[in-house]
Amino acid sequence: MSGSTARAAHIVVVGAGIVGAACADALTENGFHVTVVDTAGVGHGATAAGMGHIVAMDDSEAQFALTKYSRDIWNALADDLPRAAERVACGTLWVAADDEEMQVVAQKCAFYRARGVRAEMLDSRQLAAVEPSLRPGLPGALLIPDDSVVYPPPLAAWLLKRACARGAALRIGIKVSRISDVGVELADGGKIACDMALVAVGAQAKALLPEIQLRPRKGHLVITDRHPNFVRHQLVELGYLKSAHGSTGDSVAFNVQPRATGQVLIGSSRQFDNNRAEVDHGMAQRMLARAVSYMPGLANLSAIRIWTGFRAATPDKLPLIGPHPTRPNVWLATGHEGLGITTSMGTARLVADMLCGRVTEIPAAPYSPCRAGQIDARSACATAPSALAAIGGAGHA
Ligand SMILES: Cc1cc2nc3c(=O)[nH]c(=O)nc-3n(C[C@H](O)[C@H](O)[C@H](O)COP(=O)(O)OP(=O)(O)OC[C@H]3O[C@@H](n4cnc5c(N)ncnc54)[C@H](O)[C@@H]3O)c2cc1C
Repeated sequence: MSGSTARAAHIVVVGAGIVGAACADALTENGFHVTVVDTAGVGHGATAAGMGHIVAMDDSEAQFALTKYSRDIWNALADDLPRAAERVACGTLWVAADDEEMQVVAQKCAFYRARGVRAEMLDSRQLAAVEPSLRPGLPGALLIPDDSVVYPPPLAAWLLKRACARGAALRIGIKVSRISDVGVELADGGKIACDMALVAVGAQAKALLPEIQLRPRKGHLVITDRHPNFVRHQLVELGYLKSAHGSTGDSVAFNVQPRATGQVLIGSSRQFDNNRAEVDHGMAQRMLARAVSYMPGLANLSAIRIWTGFRAATPDKLPLIGPHPTRPNVWLATGHEGLGITTSMGTARLVADMLCGRVTEIPAAPYSPCRAGQIDARSACATAPSALAAIGGAGHA
């Protein structure tokens, strides 16, 4: 592409989940010409299956940076979000089960406060007062008041509506079968020429880019009928991080969410090497037993639906955001594991800033697909042509 052309670069975003939708929104806002393609529809995939907890997480500095950055963007948009997004500014309570976990509460509190996140320690009495349905005698919790919950599918639709209002084209019911350096090839034999393809297909990215080290990680969720005020915050056991960040084995954790409808959403489970969508009843029972052990009254509520979804897990638990190391004009926005609803917004800003040649607001290197261990060794980063150089500034209007 020539630097003198006035034509806006054409980017095909493959995937209309929350990540593809957020990227389409940010790219059109920056003057790019965007086409979004999805096999299933807007906000399907993990976006429809996820819990919608918008959360600043502290498992690593890089994870914290992206979740906090993204959470702040969501919070700034709070008044603009559609009612259908069912945002509830309920905050998170990280619940301690014993005195040892209370020490972790104190450490987490210090971590968050040192980085400008509001955090408050609750003792046993305060916890019982704000969440009376928890089992008696729990020693306390950490309150992160500025976390929230949303219903993700309408958010994806809203972001894409904004992108389409700026000229984005949306092509639903179309499967991308191959990506080349000049465009995407479709399962029906068609092609869409473009300057760059952005792969935002979540856990299915390996089907298009087999060299990526990405594994689907199955999760179950259960929703009850309406019981307003039964739960008032997103409640997560402190052991959740162990469940979320182990790399092997099946795990469950107490993770319960109040919905704007008065329903209670109950999670969560994690399984590798089970790529079938059907419910694993043994795993669901384990998950529910864990939840009831923290909140005995849950056993009296009626569950009305159970479903599964697949998180896109990378080896180091961080997403892949940026140019593919060896495929020219192919960028990635995938690998968000259990945080993609939250981190979609930060991902989109990083992608847009990098493509526009701007300094990113948080360092982008920790999420670069070039980092060690993310791409099969035969695709060495050293041989990578610079996709950014190929597109940045040239086609961008
Ligand atoms: C049980 C569970 C609970 C979760 N809870 C939370 C939470 O509380 N907070 C949070 O932040 N995150 C949570 N997540 C994670 C979050 O849901 C995901 O990280 C996020 O939805 C990923 O969005 P995505 O757009 O990358 O992928 P997806 O939503 O999976 O979208 C990918 C899209 O690509 C399309 N596609 C795939 N292949 C092709 C192809 N070849 N051609 C065209 N289109 C294609 C699919 O149809 C799909 O629409 C949870 C996930 C699960 C499973």
